[in-house]
Amino acid sequence: MKKITIAIDGYSSCGKSTMAKDLAREIGYVYVDSGAMYRAVTLYALDNHIMQDGHIDEERLKQEIESIEISFQFNPERGRPDTYLNGTRVEDRIRTLEVSNHVSHIAALGFVRENMVRQQQRMGQQGGIIMDGRDIGTTVFPNAELKIFVTASAEIRAQRRYDELTAKGEQCDMQEILHNVEERDYIDTHRDISPLRQAEDALVLDNSHMTIEEQKQWLLDAFHKTVGE
Ligand code: C5P
Repeated sequence: MKKITIAIDGYSSCGKSTMAKDLAREIGYVYVDSGAMYRAVTLYALDNHIMQDGHIDEERLKQEIESIEISFQFNPERGRPDTYLNGTRVEDRIRTLEVSNHVSHIAALGFVRENMVRQQQRMGQQGGIIMDGRDIGTTVFPNAELKIFVTASAEIRAQRRYDELTAKGEQCDMQEILHNVEERDYIDTHRDISPLRQAEDALVLDNSHMTIEEQKQWLLDAFHKTVGE
């Protein structure tokens, strides 16, 4: 059977990656978390002092972007791919609030997006891929057979992120997380290049009051309908 391309876009912390990786496992597709790629570039910029006190040395990042190598390796323990930056596993470091606080600024840069989109399109050449992000259905794979746009209220998303970080033992403040979620929503929807928006042909899923199990079933049904099973 022909393998299709599935694009899942939506606001930050709305559970896209959980749904996407569960579906990928169920139907035997490759899952790619495009947000992890922007996070890895952000971590690189922070570690190498390209981004300091909110200022980005764009010229330096432009020179170095081609040599930033981002890859994924499936981790059977977690049931999802881990992110690697220049050969080093950075899966935990890219999820910290520090990276979350800076990533939308890095992701708004045109040359960063061009580079990431090119890599993402290469990963999806053969089909059989589920990618989640902000511009997957609009820019990366505008011809994807199945497009989903996920949304939930900012408060519910902040609560989920808070639970996730505290479960990992990270000290965090609910108000700071809510502020980060709202700020990222604003930057992601207002940037000039590929802003977050719903593709015209996307199915909308508001999961504010759905369990993970219900979302999983909803997505599986949407997949079967699309492939005509
Ligand atoms: O999905 P996640 O929240 O990990 O993404 C981190 C950030 O990366 C987003 O807030 C957004 O600024 C950026 N991003 C993007 N385009 C994508 C995926 C993520 O601009 N396709």
